[in-house]
Amino acid sequence: MRAWLLTDTTGIDAFTLEEVDTPEPGPGEVRVALRTTGLNHLDLWVAQGLPAPAHLPHILGADGAGVVDALGEGVDGIEVGDEVVIDPSLSCGSCDRCLREEITQCDEFGILGEHHTGTFAEYVVVPAGNVLPKPPGLSWEVAGSFGLVTATALRMIERARLQKGETVLVCGIGGGVSAAAMSIAVARGARVFVTSRSPEKIQWAIDHGAEAGFDSASEFSKDMAEVGGADVVIENVGPATWKQSLRSLKKGGRMAICGATTGPKVELTLPVLWFKELELIGSTMATHAQFARALHLVASGQVEAPVDSVHDFDRLPDALRRLESGEQLGKVVLAR
Ligand SMILES: [Zn+2]
Repeated sequence: MRAWLLTDTTGIDAFTLEEVDTPEPGPGEVRVALRTTGLNHLDLWVAQGLPAPAHLPHILGADGAGVVDALGEGVDGIEVGDEVVIDPSLSCGSCDRCLREEITQCDEFGILGEHHTGTFAEYVVVPAGNVLPKPPGLSWEVAGSFGLVTATALRMIERARLQKGETVLVCGIGGGVSAAAMSIAVARGARVFVTSRSPEKIQWAIDHGAEAGFDSASEFSKDMAEVGGADVVIENVGPATWKQSLRSLKKGGRMAICGATTGPKVELTLPVLWFKELELIGSTMATHAQFARALHLVASGQVEAPVDSVHDFDRLPDALRRLESGEQLGKVVLAR
């Protein structure tokens, strides 16, 4: 098969399209002939060695959808020819946490393409439990790209216990997880406010159900105070918005954090935590059940999963540059 190999960790120029052995499914695994692959910022991070793959060359790519074309031993309920969506969360499947379906806390938890061979290829092998039937009405472009960001956003919203009528602030609305979180919050009947450095992205958010948006570099906590403060903040920006995000929370507010695109360290004034009884909630990817719920929300049209652009499989570097530009609105997708 043809696959995009990451040969070192110098970024986008380190990818080369090569002919490699087509992987064979082992017991309990299926092989999927990929139709579409969604790109994620995770791919850009790993390509820069953050974190570095365990072995090079490496095939990245978390999201994907395609057609099952080979079954390993002992796979039931899936047939060759089934159209499927890939859930990129991988775990050991046998520890206490996995048995309680808290797979994100498994010691072996990982994401397809980060430490495991991913979807920047013509075929990928995954455990049978990591494929779900593709709903017939769902386009290949959305099926192969909504997964990681929508499931991650859904887990954040669920861990933050966002209720109908509550006020939520979503920081950095240009990011895929943030856009998905906004759409889920709108679908839940929350009042949604956003931040971005781009007036176009703020307008886009308002067109898609947000009440208002503020410049990420401004003192947006003052704007939030005027609307009563936030019950929930969805935060994956980090130091650039942290202080204002924390100040935006009303008493008893919850902040869900799944990443930090502007750096790993922030300052915290502890009395604010206890006097306002705030909750800081870490969140990583999603469980299989949450992935299935995310698929249902997207397939039923309750949650949007916009596609920015579709690029030919042979043009991965162009697609990655589009993602790196930060100008995209929605997912950047590879199609075969
Ligand atoms: Zn486990």
